Order: sequence, then structure tokens, then C-alpha cells
Amino acid sequence: STIGANFAHTAAQYPDHEALIDKPSGRRWNYSELNHDVDNLARGLLAAGIAQGTRVGIWAPNVPEWVLLQFATAKIGAILVNINPSYRIHELRYAMQQSGMSLIVAMPNFKGTDYADMIAQATPDCPELQTAAFIGTPSWDALVAGGTKLPADAVEHALAQLHPEDPINIQYTSGTTGYPKGATLSHRNILNNGYFVTETIGLTERDKLCIPVPFYHCFGMVMGTLGATTHGAAIVIPAASFDPAATLRAVQEERCTALYGVPTMFIAEQNLPDFASYNLSSLRTGIMAGSPCPIEVMKRCMSEMHMAGVSIAYGMTETSPVSMQTLMDDDVTHRTETVGQVHPHLEVKIVDPGTGDTVPRGEPGEFCTRGYSVMLGYWNDPEKTAAAVDPEGWMHTGDLAVMLEDGYVNIVGRIKDMVIRGGENLYPREIEEFLYRHPDIADVQVIGVPDERYGEELCAWLLMKPGATPLDAAAVAAYCEGHLSRHKVPRYVLVVNEFPMTVTGKVRKMDMRERTVEILG
Ligand code: ATP
Ligand code: MG
Repeated sequence: STIGANFAHTAAQYPDHEALIDKPSGRRWNYSELNHDVDNLARGLLAAGIAQGTRVGIWAPNVPEWVLLQFATAKIGAILVNINPSYRIHELRYAMQQSGMSLIVAMPNFKGTDYADMIAQATPDCPELQTAAFIGTPSWDALVAGGTKLPADAVEHALAQLHPEDPINIQYTSGTTGYPKGATLSHRNILNNGYFVTETIGLTERDKLCIPVPFYHCFGMVMGTLGATTHGAAIVIPAASFDPAATLRAVQEERCTALYGVPTMFIAEQNLPDFASYNLSSLRTGIMAGSPCPIEVMKRCMSEMHMAGVSIAYGMTETSPVSMQTLMDDDVTHRTETVGQVHPHLEVKIVDPGTGDTVPRGEPGEFCTRGYSVMLGYWNDPEKTAAAVDPEGWMHTGDLAVMLEDGYVNIVGRIKDMVIRGGENLYPREIEEFLYRHPDIADVQVIGVPDERYGEELCAWLLMKPGATPLDAAAVAAYCEGHLSRHKVPRYVLVVNEFPMTVTGKVRKMDMRERTVEILG
């Protein structure tokens, strides 16, 4: 099936079921109403000259129009290009040019950022761009109204031409390790992944899913919107951009049954001073993904947040995204120390990055996956595509993993983050997990910095808990004594107020390495 056909099917099956609830504006749609509004917008797009394969950009935080545009473009086969709301003019221009965008849909402004102005500045450099439409303004209304001049069945005709293998989405990666890359994904890629991810947590048409993660990323738009609509569940938008209190309030008021988040979001929710006052008893499950989850955070999700079935998922933009996931009844150890089991209909292997041979279970190597989920390629970048996907179809993820005897996989870090000190491979994650247990440390990141003698040395960046005395390298070494081998004890320790982060909530170790080199001279 295609995304548009699948959505129409859900709408026909559950017309009166709640489909989309926007908490900030109070607007609500059932499936029949949502399908109607999607079709009107799709007709407007067709009338504006948008056709199958045309690139349509969306540059907005989580607003209902994002979801309308996602399904409207899907119904006519236009390729939705997701643009990160934290991009600024330079990155916007890059995405607009690189994707050859014809139409951009944006919020005119949000939280003090003037998106309309940046679009106006970039437009002269983007010859393919024909129009911009701004959400909540007359230009959006005009885009929709333009469709009335086309016959009522125009969208149906366009939909009938589409094929599941067509590209439907250009999704830029988080940019954790470098410049974002435009992964090109098909209907088949993301519709199936959205379906299987929420099948694993038992989502049905009786569920209400709270989505505080950004729509512009796969977590929000595949696991979130497609995960909900493939099962007829309701999508609840708690706020346009992440707000821990608004998220818990939305769960309480809407009696949400499932909640998504990256670990840092759950940490922020659990650290709210009035956390205990929210009634979260309607929750039963959810998904946590994107980075490793500390065990204490997981335990509180399962008990205090009632998410007994919360699932950990591992994936990347290039694989639609999920390839590994824990199951509803896995124990807390499996949920924090592993990323679960291989997803249905996918293959995985763990290889020696040098030789390409599969390594024995229990030994670290590069995680590779193959199957329906692997992207069509990076948009207009055959070289980078060939470097990521080999001729046999295996996606080389750049992540280091260990497969345990029971088939569960443990992610030990990224190849780029592995530190080679005196010829020895060190995995920062292991050292971070150990230091995280120190009672005065709120969060910790470990990186490698260049060193004349050993090639690289370890440096730990620490966030101290409020009121705690900052630790120095000697204090950290004393804490590690007898617990960690000497060569794993960080030579340098920096106490900081924050880590450089991507908007998807990931630490940019690349930036940390640069800054550390500056600081240490
Ligand atoms: P870029 O590719 O632009 O540097 P990125 O890799 O962070 O950025 P994404 O595609 O958003 O972009 O993220 C995928 C990566 O996130 C994975 O390759 C992996 O390193 C990490 N990741 C995802 N899920 C998990 C998880 N459950 N546990 C640990 N790491 C995870
Ligand atoms: Mg990546």
C-alpha cells in the first residue's frame, strides 16, 4: 500500500474515532474530518502545480498543519522534505537547494524566530522555489482554497498513480556527527516501519498516543504519526515544541495510553517539581529511542509513569528508522542494557569494520541491517550512498554493537566516538555508565582528545548536581580506583553547565572534541 491509500483506509474504517488533538489550540479532528481536510489540502497542492515527485518543504514545529501536509503530500506523491526548526538561514538554504524544493510551507514565526524573513532571504538563491505558504495566514488559506477549481476526484486520480517504491520523504539526519544527510525514503520504507514499531507495543484504535518528539524527525513522523494512523489510534500534540509540564498535562487531560520521548525528555518530566501531582494512570506503554536510557529513568517510567510496557527502540534515519526494539514484557535489564531484538522482516549482522566478516556473539563490531527499511539512498548523493549501503543491500550504520547469546543487541557507541588509546579500543559508553552512578554527577559524556604519547586520551565532561562540589581529575580517578582499569580512567575532567546538543536531544561529541582541544590548548 501507499501512505495515502493506507490513511484513506483507516479513515473509512474508523470515521468517528479521534484522529488528531492539538492541545495548544484546542482543535480536534476525527478520522473522517482529518481525511476531508487532508484531501482539500492535497487538491490545493495539485492546483498549485505540485505533482508526483515535486519536493515540498515543511519548516515548522509540531502543529496540526504538519500532519495535514504529511498526508496531503503522500496522497499525491509529492516528496515531503522535513526541515529542522532549529535550522538557520545557512542550513535552510542548503536544504532548499539540495532538495530542489518547489514549495515551502512554514510557520511565519515561532518563539522569536522569524522564519518568513529567513525564507525571503534564501529565495533568490533557490531558482526552483515557486511559492511559500505560511501556516495560520492568508497564504495557507489561499493554498487550500485554490483546490476548489479542480474536480472533486482529482486527488483520487493522483493517488491511483502512486507506487509503494516511490520516494515520498527526504529526511535529513540529526547532524550529530557532521553535516545532515538527506535520506530518501519510500512509502514502503516508512509505512511498514511505522506499522511494525507500534504493533510491537500493541497499539490499536483504542489508544491515544502523546507525541512530544519533533515531527520533522522519523521518531515523530514515522513512529508517531504513521505508527498511530496505521492502527487508527489518536495523535495528541501536547505542545508545538517540547515542554515537560505540557506533556504530562496532555497525558492527564486526554487520558493518553502511550507516550514517546528521547531519554532526556523523560528525565525532564521526572524532574519536574510537581511530577508526583500528575495523574498518569492512563498510560500503559510508549517508546524511548535515540540514545541510551539510564536504568533509574527506565525504572521510574515503568513504575511512577505506569508505562510497564515501555519499549526501547534503536534505529537511524537511513533505516526508516527502527531495526531493533524491546518487547512489552522484557525485563528492566534488557530495556536498559540492550536495544532489543531484530524487527520483523529485517536482517542484522555485526561485522569487523576492517574485514567485513561477521564477529562472534559477545564481540563488538559494526551494526549492519538489510531489508525493506533501508533507504532508497541519500538525495542526489550517490557517493555517500555507496559508502553507507553496500552492493548487497546492507546498511552500514557506523554504530558499534554486541550481539548477546539470546539475540538481544547492545549498542556500545559510534565508531566515530570510539577512543583508541595506546592501541587499545575504549568505548566511552562503558565509562559514562560507571561515572553516572556517582552521587554528585547529574550527567556525563566521555570523549577522546588527541595526545602525542597515546594517540588519544580520555576526557570526561561532567554536569554536577545542584549544590554539589565540582570534581577534578584526581577525585574522578579516586572514584574509579579498583572499579575501572587504569587506562579507562579519564585523564582530563571538565565541569560544564551543559553539553552541545542537537535538537533531537543528542550530544554533539564532535563539538565537544573541538572545544576540549581549545580549552586544553
Ligand atoms: P548524523 O547521522 O547526521 O550524524 P544521527 O546519526 O544522530 O546524526 P539519526 O539518524 O537521527 O542521526 O540518529 C541515529 C543514531 O542514533 C544511530 O546511528 C545511533 O547512533 C543513535 N541511536 C538511536 N537509537 C539509539 C538507542 N536506542 N540507543 C543508543 N543509540 C541510539
Ligand atoms: Mg547517523
